[in-house]
Amino acid sequence: MNQFPMKKIKSFGVLSLLITSCLVAQTKTSSKISTSNEVSYINTITASELKTHLSIVASDSMEGRDTGSEGQKKAARYLVEQYKKEGIPFPKGADSYYQKVPAAFMNQDSGENLPDSANIWAFIEGSEKPNEIVVVSAHYDHVGIKNGEVYNGADDDGSGTVSLLEIAQAFQKAKKEGHGPKRSILILHMTGEEHGLYGSSYYSENPLFPIANTVADVNIDMIGRRDEFHKKSNNYVYLIGSDYLSTDLYKICEDVNSKYIHLNLDYKFNDRNDPNRFYYRSDHYNFAKHGIPVVFLFNGVHADYHQATDEVDKIEFDALTKRAQLGFSIAWELANRDARIVVDKDGN
Ligand SMILES: [Zn+2]
Repeated sequence: MNQFPMKKIKSFGVLSLLITSCLVAQTKTSSKISTSNEVSYINTITASELKTHLSIVASDSMEGRDTGSEGQKKAARYLVEQYKKEGIPFPKGADSYYQKVPAAFMNQDSGENLPDSANIWAFIEGSEKPNEIVVVSAHYDHVGIKNGEVYNGADDDGSGTVSLLEIAQAFQKAKKEGHGPKRSILILHMTGEEHGLYGSSYYSENPLFPIANTVADVNIDMIGRRDEFHKKSNNYVYLIGSDYLSTDLYKICEDVNSKYIHLNLDYKFNDRNDPNRFYYRSDHYNFAKHGIPVVFLFNGVHADYHQATDEVDKIEFDALTKRAQLGFSIAWELANRDARIVVDKDGN
């Protein structure tokens, strides 16, 4: 989660054009949830595996994963290793698991002096509509080392990073067993988020698959803790943006949650007038600004947000597991339903 609520908000004139073209392509959609295999794959996302991965990704040896740092590169290698182990390839049309994000791109407006960096991507090709892409994203950078203290970012966004590993593994298992997603899943670990959503901004301007073929982005940033509004129970998640561009997406989130996951979906921060402006503060925004429906899964902020105390031992793995399972279920439905979700709203 980016620290600066008002930073670099650009408006894009392409939005209305995209919506018009999407509306033309509109077809009748079914509200039925797709398949019955889903539950067995949801259950492959476990607290123990999330904990194993997070204990490595958010350890001191990753040096706080600052953009372009040696520590972040080490975290990247760990992620790539996991995909290789699972037999999950990098996307078709790419030549490695890395999308280079040049320093010049990140430093152009900010005057920062960041080195080259990279997004990490992995791909589960769809069986029926491989050219339609569902993105599942989370940023793997954090804020590095300050005054000799390592900022491990276990929640921000170690929690989303390891969720992506588990979500990808679940899709890959389904594919191996002949239940692979109909549409393709693009897993995107973004860089440069904390400095200004740079990795996602770069991807959205240099997409591997056409923006017009990108069905939705399910973005996960901070889902391992609880905030002050949920002291009594961690059985909740904030959903932000799900109804801004697509009524279908909003319904999918509601339906899969009530069918499989049973979290309390909290829309407090979905209010466009909320002063925190969370909608603009993580990577999904760089998809939404191009007219791609997004949903942002988020636990809210807490006393350890952007502090050296955002550590693995404070993560509530029961909550993290259910929220990661929700992210998977939403992506599953987006990828498997008969008709592509429709963009029926203007995002404003
Ligand atoms: Zn952050």
